[in-house]
This record gives sequence, C-alpha cells and structure tokens, in this order.
Amino acid sequence: MTAYIGRFAPSPTGPLHAGSLVAALASWLDARAHGGQWLVRIEDVDGPRCPPGMDALILQQLDQLGLRPDAPPEWQSRRSPLYEAALQRLIDAGQAYGCACTRAEIAAAAGPRQRHGELVYPGSRRNGTHGRPVRAWRFRVDGRIDWQDRRLGRQTQDLAVEVGDFVLKRADGLWAYQLAVVVDDADQGITDIVRGEDLADNTPRQIALQRALGLPLPRYLHTPLVLAPDGQKLSKQNGAAALDLSDPAARLREAAGVLGLQASGADLLPSLVTAWQARHGDNG
Ligand code: GLU
Repeated sequence: MTAYIGRFAPSPTGPLHAGSLVAALASWLDARAHGGQWLVRIEDVDGPRCPPGMDALILQQLDQLGLRPDAPPEWQSRRSPLYEAALQRLIDAGQAYGCACTRAEIAAAAGPRQRHGELVYPGSRRNGTHGRPVRAWRFRVDGRIDWQDRRLGRQTQDLAVEVGDFVLKRADGLWAYQLAVVVDDADQGITDIVRGEDLADNTPRQIALQRALGLPLPRYLHTPLVLAPDGQKLSKQNGAAALDLSDPAARLREAAGVLGLQASGADLLPSLVTAWQARHGDNG
C-alpha cells in the first residue's frame, strides 16, 4: 500500500469559517483514518487578496482545534521556481502557449460563453501572438476527462467545451491556482485530496495538468458544503463569520455533522476518526 499523505490547503484571504473547517477536518480525519500524514499548505499565490497575518491566524485556529500538521507548513508564495519549471516543461512540450489577448478581445471572440464569471477561452486564438507581447500563459486543453470521486462517484467534464484553454500564469504575473496546486501536490507527495465540493469542478483541469506533466494522479474526495442562510455556498466572499473558538469542541461537532459523523466516545477527535473510518475507510 502506498503511504498516505493528505493536506489542507487554505487560501489565506480570510480566517477559517464553518465551511473551510469542514474541509480541514475531513482531510485531517481521512489522513488519520489511513494512518497517514497530514500537511498544511498556505495557498497565497494571489498575494493582493491575502491580508497580512491571515496565514498565522489560520494556523493558530487549526492548532486551537487540535488539527496539527505532521510537518511545518509550506507557503506557495515561496515556491515560484517550481511553478516556473513546470510552465517551461509544458511550453517545451507544446502544451502551453503565450496569449496576447486582452479581456475585451476574449469577450468579443467568446461572445456570451461564461463559466463561474470567467470567459471560456476560444481555441481559435491559439495560433500565436502575431508579434504582440505575451500577456498570459495558457494550457492547451484537449477533450473529455473522466474521473472518480470517493463520495460523488464517476464524474466527467469536456474541458474543450466547458472550460477552454485555461490560464497558468496570469497577465499580472501571478501564478494561477490550477498550476500551483498541481505542482505542489506532486512535489509534496500528496496521495489523497480531500476538499470542498465547490472545487470538484476544478479537478478535471488539474488531472489534465497532472497527465501533461507526467505526475502521479491522487485520489479525490469532495466534501459537502456548508450553505449560508440564503442557500448559497458559505464563503469568505459572502461574509462567513470567523469561527468562534471559545468552544473548539462545539465547532468540531458542527463540522462533523456536515460530514454526517457523530462522535460517540468521550474523546472527540479519536471518536470522529472511528466514525470516518466506518463511512469512508473502505473506498480508497
Ligand atoms: N486554496 C483553495 C481554497 O482555499 C483550496 C485548494 C485545494 O484544496 O485544492 O479554496
């Protein structure tokens, strides 16, 4: 059996909230249930969106909750050379290309095709920059990705139709989440990705990158989302409150409830590991 290495990878745009705690707890429980390691990676590639000190606050919140990583955390902002090398490999293999398009040009070419507020990039623009400066670097998508989620079952997405050639390095010079996450998961030897269901839709892009870079494919489990009172996904963006950690056990019980787990023993976290094992231990 391969050794299990899991991770929690928060973007430090705000403190932990009820939704991100579910992902943190689930990834921790899955690692413990498999006798594996659990790592924390601070995903601060989008520096302007990360207020100073938020990373330290998240790490402190995790500590208060008793979710402690097995190795010192990593920060994506310190790992640019790895992303640069991966981009270069994709360029050399003809799988990434420089794109000179402005937003207005993409909008004009793509018409109304939008996905989660982002324009679907038309493949017709792949054929060179015609001497204009490169703005962003994009991945050349190709076809349908089928994949298996440990909770959601079989999934499929046609990248060419639904997503288009996606950005690896942005016009403002920042690394895109898709590239950074794939490079880091492989570099850290992550075998299992457990994270919120809102990210399931990114998984086919990440699998396409893993294949193009010849990286191992991790297993995936996407957890249920916590919904805000208006039925939307609870997120930092719609003002999710920071966790009240005056009673960490109560917060852990709430997060466990979202995962369909009940603690039966006096020792909360170990009894949740047992409950998780009963639910997810035999399918991955
Ligand atoms: N950094 C991402 C977020 O906080 C999660 C990335 C991942 O788990 O793959 O939404």
